[in-house]
Amino acid sequence: MVAIYPGSFDPITLGHLDVIERGVKLFDQVIVAVLCNPSKDPLFSQEQRIEQIRYCTRHLSNVEVDSFTGLTVEYAKLRQARVLLRGLRVLSDFEKELQMAHTNQTLWDGVETVFLATAKEYSFLSSSIVKEIAKFGGSISHLVPENVAKDICSYYS
Ligand code: ADP
Repeated sequence: MVAIYPGSFDPITLGHLDVIERGVKLFDQVIVAVLCNPSKDPLFSQEQRIEQIRYCTRHLSNVEVDSFTGLTVEYAKLRQARVLLRGLRVLSDFEKELQMAHTNQTLWDGVETVFLATAKEYSFLSSSIVKEIAKFGGSISHLVPENVAKDICSYYS
C-alpha cells in the first residue's frame, strides 16, 4: 500500500521526519509530496525542500520525495495511492485536518486519511516555530535534521 505524505515542509523538521520514519513501517511506500502553494511565500524553494528531504530520508529505502501542485487527491490518483498520511499535534490541528480529510473524501471517496499522533517530544514543533527561532539567532539544531540546520544558518547569516 502506497501512502502520500503531503505538506509544505518549509523546512522539514524532526517532527515530520518522525512521522515519515513511523509511516514507512506501516506502508510499503511513503511518497513525501512537497506542495507548491502559489499563495505562500516559502523560505526554501521547492527544489531545496526536495533536496533537504531526500538527504535526511536517505536511510529509508521505501521513501520517495516528489512535488506537486493543485489538489492533493488528484496527485494521489495519479500516483495510485489511496492513503494520505498526516500528523496531529494539538487540538487546532485536529479541526483543520478533519476538515481537510472530509473535503478530500468529497472529492474522491477512494481516499483515506491516516493520522499519526506526534511524538510527544515534538508536539510543539512546526516549521514556523523553527523559522521564528532562527530569525532571532536561536539554536534550532535539536529541531531539524542537521542538513536543514546548516541551510537555515547560511540563510540567516
Ligand atoms: P501543511 O502546510 O500541509 O500543514 P506542514 O509541512 O506544516 O504542511 O505539515 C505537514 C503535515 O505534517 C501536517 O499534517 C502536520 O500536522 C504534520 N506535522 C507538522 N509538524 C509535525 C510534528 N511536529 N509532529 C507530527 N506531525 C507534524
